[in-house]
Amino acid sequence: MKEVKLNNGIAMPQLGFGVWQVEDDKVTAAVEKALAVGYRSIDTAKVYENEAGVGKALKQSGIPREDIFLTTKVWNSDQGYEQTLKAYDESLKRLGTDYVDLYLIHWPTPEYDTYVDTYKALEKLYKDGTVRAIGVCNFESEHLERLFNECEIKPVLNQVECHPYFAQKPLKQFCAEHDIYVEAWSPLDQGGEVLQDEAVRTIADAHGKSPAQVVLRWHLQQQTIVIPKSVTPSRIEENYDVFDFVLTDEEMATIDGLDRGARRGPHPNDMNKR
Ligand code: NDP
Repeated sequence: MKEVKLNNGIAMPQLGFGVWQVEDDKVTAAVEKALAVGYRSIDTAKVYENEAGVGKALKQSGIPREDIFLTTKVWNSDQGYEQTLKAYDESLKRLGTDYVDLYLIHWPTPEYDTYVDTYKALEKLYKDGTVRAIGVCNFESEHLERLFNECEIKPVLNQVECHPYFAQKPLKQFCAEHDIYVEAWSPLDQGGEVLQDEAVRTIADAHGKSPAQVVLRWHLQQQTIVIPKSVTPSRIEENYDVFDFVLTDEEMATIDGLDRGARRGPHPNDMNKR
């Protein structure tokens, strides 16, 4: 498994496993399968309501906790300094662990103007040593600029929607300039149209790989961190089997050319739901 080195010096697997929309009673089997296949990074969130099931899978796997990179996120309704500290404790309890590797702000919710205080709580957790790295999700460059000006510790990554139809070129450039990794959510376009795209399928055929594998490779070759989700055992295996081929510069450019600015999720400034 290829690892990236985050800006605070710790290593993180570049390919991980996402569990959004997987119910708590189904997530344990999915995460156990992922761990058996070789994934060592799991991405959950309080709002997914499956932290307990994820924690159960980690325990049952018998894999040492320090060999797993665990991410969770503070939900919008818990933003604010004190509320975030409390939410973190509650997440740890549900996960059955005494630390997470990466704690993220789930959305900036700019309407409430609480993300700076929320981030300061993440900084406290980091300084106290109960979390190994801190970061954000769905932050536009202006939200990141505010953290640079008003906080002390740079986020290690920004987890944002990203796939060939929504490639996030300007934000990727901004994050790269600031030594912040981009982590792609919905890297497979939620199993949607990107996987049917004629150009992607042609490249997949040329390599004897699937469209999903080609899309994951496109992310990995740009140094993006990816966390594809699946509850289907064969797809969990397929999405992990992406280290035995390389896309050419021309193939990368072809996929780059598919960008059409097509978001699946909301614009971060419009996502203020609590
Ligand atoms: P993905 O792009 O990972 O796609 C998941 C969908 O694609 C599922 O329906 C899955 O089906 C299907 N799929 C998976 N593998 C394949 C394959 N090889 N071939 C065809 N279809 C496939 O979408 P997500 O939105 O789940 O994003 C990934 C993760 O990112 C989430 O699980 C979550 O952890 C995180 N995320 C974070 C957000 C944030 O705001 N920070 C927002 C959204 C997601 P099936 O499961 O039936 O196999």
